[in-house]
Amino acid sequence: MAKYVYGIDLGTTYSCIAYVDESGRANVIKNLEGTNTTPSVVNFASPNQVVVGQVAKENAVIDPRNTVSLVKTLMGKSNFAISYNGEDKSPEEVSAYILRKLAEDAAKEIDAEVKDVVITCPAYFGTAERTATKNAGIIAGLNVLEIISEPVAAAIYYGCTKESEEKTILVYDLGGGTFDVTIMSINSEKIEIICSDGDHDLGGKDWDSAAMRYLADEFASQKSYNGDLDEYAQQDLRLKAEKAKQQLSAKEKTPVIVEAAGERARIDFSREKFDEITSALLKSTIDKTDSAIAVAEQRGFKVDEILLVGGSTRMPQVTNVLEEKYGIKPKILEPDEAVAKGAAIHAVNVYINNQPNVIPDPSIPDPDNSVESLPIDPMMMSIGGKKRAIVVATTKSFAIEVIVDKKTREPKCCNMIIKNDPMPDGSITVSKTFGTVDTGQGEVEITVYESDFMDEYFDVDEDYAIGTATLELPENLPADSPIEITFSLNSEGILEVTGKDLTSNKEIHATMQSKYIMNSETVEELKEKSKQMAVM
Ligand code: AMP
Repeated sequence: MAKYVYGIDLGTTYSCIAYVDESGRANVIKNLEGTNTTPSVVNFASPNQVVVGQVAKENAVIDPRNTVSLVKTLMGKSNFAISYNGEDKSPEEVSAYILRKLAEDAAKEIDAEVKDVVITCPAYFGTAERTATKNAGIIAGLNVLEIISEPVAAAIYYGCTKESEEKTILVYDLGGGTFDVTIMSINSEKIEIICSDGDHDLGGKDWDSAAMRYLADEFASQKSYNGDLDEYAQQDLRLKAEKAKQQLSAKEKTPVIVEAAGERARIDFSREKFDEITSALLKSTIDKTDSAIAVAEQRGFKVDEILLVGGSTRMPQVTNVLEEKYGIKPKILEPDEAVAKGAAIHAVNVYINNQPNVIPDPSIPDPDNSVESLPIDPMMMSIGGKKRAIVVATTKSFAIEVIVDKKTREPKCCNMIIKNDPMPDGSITVSKTFGTVDTGQGEVEITVYESDFMDEYFDVDEDYAIGTATLELPENLPADSPIEITFSLNSEGILEVTGKDLTSNKEIHATMQSKYIMNSETVEELKEKSKQMAVM
C-alpha cells in the first residue's frame, strides 16, 4: 500500500479530504456516497452508531434532537454540543466523527491508510479553537501533522506560493456558515498574514434563509395562506431554497415547487430577485473586506490579487461586486476544494521536512515507522520542495483588567496585545507599567481577557476572562507604586503573563489558556471511546 498524507478542510457546513498523488497533483477523495464534499452533520443514530454527511443532513428533518449541525462554531468555546443517551458530547467528539467519516471513506476509496493529516481552520481561530481542532483529530485516531489557516491553504493551492515576486493577496472566503477575509503577503521565503476579519455567523445559510422567506411569502400570497409552515415544511423548504440558490448560480431563473399545508405552488425564482433580497448580506461582507483592506493599507500593503474560497463564492453576485468595487477580477478555481487541496500539498511539505535527513539503514528496524517515504517527488509539486515560513498575526486581543479612574473605581479592560498585531518571529511580547491603586495595598490581582475588541480600552465582560494570577506586594507600599505587566504570546497561542513589582523586584508568572481547552487525559479517553462507535 502506498503511503500518503492528507489535507482535511473541516468546514462549518461541508468538509473535504484531499491527497497528492504520484504525479504531484492534489485530488479530492470522494466519500462513499460519491460526492467530493461531505455535509458536516452528525446524527446519533444509536448508542454505538453515528451517521455523518448527507444522510445525517436529511435526518436532521426527522430527528433534530439527535443531530448536530454547525459544530465548528462551538469549537474551543463550549464543552457541550449535544446530549445523547444521557451523555453530554463535546464539540471535539462530534467533530471527530466527521473526521472519521472522511478518513474511513477515503481509505476505502483509494485503498490506503489515512493517518497523517493537516487540518485547516479559519485564520481568526485562537488557541482554544485550534487546540480543539487538533484534539478532534487525535480523538479520531489521526496523527495531526499541523493545523493551518484556511486562507493559507487556499493560497498554496492557487499556486500563489510558487511565484517569486512579492504579492499581497486577499482571500475572500464565503462558506456555508462563516465569512472570512484575510490579507496575506507572500514572497519566496514566507507567507505572512497581515490581517483577518470576518463574521462567524454569516454564510450560505443566510442566503438560504432569505430565499426561504421569499418562497414562503410567495407561497402564502399565491395560496392565500396565512398560517405558519410546520417544522417538516420548513425543513423541506430549506433544502429546496438551498438547491434553488445553487441553480441560480448557473441559470437566470429556476422554478421551485413549494409544498405546505396540503397545497403546492410553483414559484419562478429569478437571479435578479435573489440578488435583490440578499443584497444586505453581500454588503456586510464588503464592509468587512473594506475594513481589512484599511488595516493592510495602514501597514503599507496594497492588494494585488483576490482569491475566492468557499462554496458560496460561486454566486455570481460575489465576483460582480468585488470586481466592480476593487477593480480586480477575482480568481476562482474549485472554491469548495481549494482549502483541502492546499492542505494536502502542505501536508506533503510538512511530512518531508519532518523526516530525519538520514537514509534509513534497512537492517535496523525503525521502531515507530516514521520514515516511510511518500511516492511523490516534491519537485513536481507546486511548492517545488521549498520550505516557506508561515508568519502569523495575532488572532485575538489580550487585555488586563485595570482601574483607570481612581474616583469612580470602575474597572476597565486595557488591551496589551491587539488582534492582527504582527508576530514576526512567531511570538510577541508587550510590557506596560501600571500603578497600584491604594496605599498599603497587599496584592495585585491580574485578570486576563481574550477577545476580538481592538480598542485600547473596553468594558469588562466576564465572558472573555481566561485567567487570573495574584501578585503579593510588600507591606506599606504607597499608592501608584509601579507594577510592570508583561504579556508574551507564542506561536501556539499560549500566553505567558508576568507581573513584577518594580519596588521589590518580586515577580509572578502564569500561563493562561482558555477554560475550554480539553486536558490530554480526556482526549485519550474519548479516543478510546470513539473506537466503540461505528461511523456510517
Ligand atoms: P463550503 O462551506 O465552503 O463548502 O460552502 C458551502 C456553501 O456553499 C453552502 O451554503 C452551499 O449552499 C454553497 N454553495 C455550494 N455550491 C454553490 C453554488 N453553485 N452556488 C451558490 N452557493 C453554493
